[in-house]
Amino acid sequence: AMPACDFQPQPHEGPDLQTVKNIRKNKLIPGLITYYKEPVYVHQGHMQYLWDTSGRRYLDLFAGIVTVSVGHCHPTVVAAAEKQLRKLWHTTNIYLHPKIHEYADQLVSKLPGDLKVVYLTNSGSEANDLAVLMARMHTGVFEGISLRNGYHGASPYLMGVTALSTWRYNTPTGFGFHHSVNPDPYRGPWGGKHCRDSPAQPGRPCDCVLGQCQACDLYVDQLEDVLRYSVPKGRVACFIAEAIQGVGGSVQLPDGFLKKAYEKIRAYGGLCIADEVQTGFGRMGSHYWGFESQGVTPDIVTMAKGIGNGFPMGAVVTTPEIAQTMGRALHFNTFGGNPLASAVGSAVLDVIDKERTQALCANLGTYFITELDKLRSEFEVIGDVRGKGLMIGVELVKDKKSRQPLAAEEMASIWEDTKDMGVLIGKGGLYGNCLRIKPPMCITKADVDFSLAVLRCALQKHQDSQ
Ligand code: PMP
Repeated sequence: AMPACDFQPQPHEGPDLQTVKNIRKNKLIPGLITYYKEPVYVHQGHMQYLWDTSGRRYLDLFAGIVTVSVGHCHPTVVAAAEKQLRKLWHTTNIYLHPKIHEYADQLVSKLPGDLKVVYLTNSGSEANDLAVLMARMHTGVFEGISLRNGYHGASPYLMGVTALSTWRYNTPTGFGFHHSVNPDPYRGPWGGKHCRDSPAQPGRPCDCVLGQCQACDLYVDQLEDVLRYSVPKGRVACFIAEAIQGVGGSVQLPDGFLKKAYEKIRAYGGLCIADEVQTGFGRMGSHYWGFESQGVTPDIVTMAKGIGNGFPMGAVVTTPEIAQTMGRALHFNTFGGNPLASAVGSAVLDVIDKERTQALCANLGTYFITELDKLRSEFEVIGDVRGKGLMIGVELVKDKKSRQPLAAEEMASIWEDTKDMGVLIGKGGLYGNCLRIKPPMCITKADVDFSLAVLRCALQKHQDSQ
């Protein structure tokens, strides 16, 4: 049974599900993607739980796509937002407002080195658009490099950066970006799966083609090939990557890859951009930022999603030297970091500190991943378990040997079954065959145990149906 919860949701007021479905059918609102045959019609949330309009409770393992970082309607965040709402919501940054500057200071205190200048935006796409623009302005070079399977945003500009075909349209996109071979330890050409003796994941079975270090070098060679063949005059503007590719299915770059990649990029005069939209704010457990887990310091860091616990916010942080190239008044957006957003962002940072969120991610994440890996040895359908902290991916396959992605209908029925048992899990990966487990960072061990039991049940049912 799902762990007990004292919170009492209010009864649902508002249109019933059929009315909402009709609105959607009439295309008055876009409905791009809804999970599940019968959509989950949610109306209230509290911490790691969601309630649908019939009063049914769900454990939310996807956090509104890795966005509700500290918990749905976290009381501290709600209080901070309410307080600010009553004073002033919006000014724009043509005036000074203390909250905006206090928040920028607080955010910068979480970052290493010379990363001291903050630009506040409203989303991750906007943050990455600005980061790429900054790198181009600063270097005076146009071309950039990203990794295949990476996701960096949905603006037409960024669709040329995102190298995940699922999320690109058949239309001209921003050009000038080259995509390097993805160092995917499970599906990449050379593997590089953490070995049995790897200190990072002791006891993990090794099914790599090459050891981690060797594979890493080959992926870096590929990056160098792109630099050599595709970049004019031996100069590049930037390289952008996630430490764990979120939308791509929680693909964890092999240890050491970013360090070597950054060295190459810098040798070609480029700036290194860390996309921390999913991996930041302690979610990785071992580190506050994903890039730290790879032992690198980027020139530009972009953030969104968890930064505002669901409030629409994003940020770009860079060095004074790079910011200088942007000029004083060049970059402007109306809403970015208004007082309300800044109050929310500040409360989120406080909660992460006070509630020892990062430590929780580290401990529960290790436990979750270890237990999922045990399931992997039990079930043929689990090809790979990966991730760090509460940024976890489980890749489902037809069988371990072929690694053929599990068929869409079979995936769908596993999602249906887990939902019916009260657990909401995310989807991802090029083949849509990855379960993404990235809950609000306030879940408990009891929630993890419940999730494991539900998953076991769904996988057993799948196995029995074969
Ligand atoms: N970068 C990464 C790593 C993301 O996961 C996303 C969103 N899925 C974005 C950028 C774009 O963020 P947004 O949807 O807020 O524009």
